[in-house]
Amino acid sequence: MQCELCGKNVDTLRYVIIDGARMAVCENCAKLGIPAPPPAEKRLQEVSLKRRMSKIDEKIFQSMNRVLVPDWAERIKEGRIKKGWTREELSAKVGEPVNAIAKMENGDLRPSDETAKKLEKLLGITLFQEVKEIEAVSSSSSERRGLTIGDLIKLEKEKGMK
Ligand SMILES: [Zn+2]
Repeated sequence: MQCELCGKNVDTLRYVIIDGARMAVCENCAKLGIPAPPPAEKRLQEVSLKRRMSKIDEKIFQSMNRVLVPDWAERIKEGRIKKGWTREELSAKVGEPVNAIAKMENGDLRPSDETAKKLEKLLGITLFQEVKEIEAVSSSSSERRGLTIGDLIKLEKEKGMK
């Protein structure tokens, strides 16, 4: 390697700044300047350890809920009448007291899931509906948007209106 100042061949070059210019010089010439850091080597690009934003920025939680239809009372009554059964007959088939059937038809007594299933089969009606509960949670903001079961039932009811 050659000193850039005096042209002398040396094993090791010193990096100095002479008159504002960076030079690779021999040991002797190095005294004329001020030490400078070696030329910038191509540094390995630092691998950023920055945690990447999760790809799942927005999580959507879904859950299915089986709920009784809002007009279950009417459906039970209509179903029974269509079958041409009396309350007593239905009562015997379902295994519920007559006054319980009467209350169900009036909407005063909510049938248990078990009873509702029996009624569905016996009367050939649908008493359950599946509602989707969707909640979108955005991690970038605290916005929360959710449809409650109540909202969905309301929508269903409005759709069903003639
Ligand atoms: Zn030199």
